[in-house]
Amino acid sequence: MNTIATRLDDVRQRIHDAATKYGRPDSSIQLLAVSKTRPAGDIRSALETGQHRFGESYLQEAIEKIQQLSDTQAEWHFIGRIQSNKTKIIAEHFDWVHGLCSFKHARRLNDQRPQRLPPLKVCLQINLSNEGSKAGIAPEEAAELAGLIHELPRLHLKGLMTLPAPAETVVQQRQPFQALRELRDRIKTGALPLDTLSMGMSGDLEAAIAEGATIVRVGTAIFGPRNSRK
Ligand SMILES: *Cc1c(COP(=O)(O)O)cnc(C)c1O
Repeated sequence: MNTIATRLDDVRQRIHDAATKYGRPDSSIQLLAVSKTRPAGDIRSALETGQHRFGESYLQEAIEKIQQLSDTQAEWHFIGRIQSNKTKIIAEHFDWVHGLCSFKHARRLNDQRPQRLPPLKVCLQINLSNEGSKAGIAPEEAAELAGLIHELPRLHLKGLMTLPAPAETVVQQRQPFQALRELRDRIKTGALPLDTLSMGMSGDLEAAIAEGATIVRVGTAIFGPRNSRK
């Protein structure tokens, strides 16, 4: 087996072990392989093992890879920062967007989603920790924004996403993930169940699964350390 296949097996085992430990079915947790900065060949190696969801952050390289892999069943998730002048490219090429933070971007993505494609699946990014990424909306704003996005016919609001600052212990790691789950439980409605919790990465996926993650976004543990971007 090549290295990527071996690492993918290890990550699947970690997910399985955490799911078992916390009493969840494996099928309730999806693995998003974060392939940013990785060549298309690495993604092909992962595809050959049955992995088909991939996360990308940098649009230009993402579009090149999406085109190179158009013969495959890969599903593409945009997990980077959204810029207003790039929403059209995102709406045309991706299946999911995890980092939605404004109604302005939501409306642009809605208006620019091609009719031949199904509604774009989106998650609202929530900023729960002061030290984490500066992206994301405040928890107090989530209910209102969710309601507005729910009205947009070309978007399908699936749930919430967060990207907390790295923490040392599992207890510390679980705090923002617990907060995201509790926020979701407060603002969900019958019409808007928000059943996706996109949280957990290479270093903290167990903590995220403990708190109910349904998508873990894993890069380094699958593809190895990234070179810093030029
Ligand atoms: C890069 C990235 C990841 C993956 O991080 P790893 O630590 O390499 O697993 C997950 N989510 C987002 C939003 C990212 O930008």
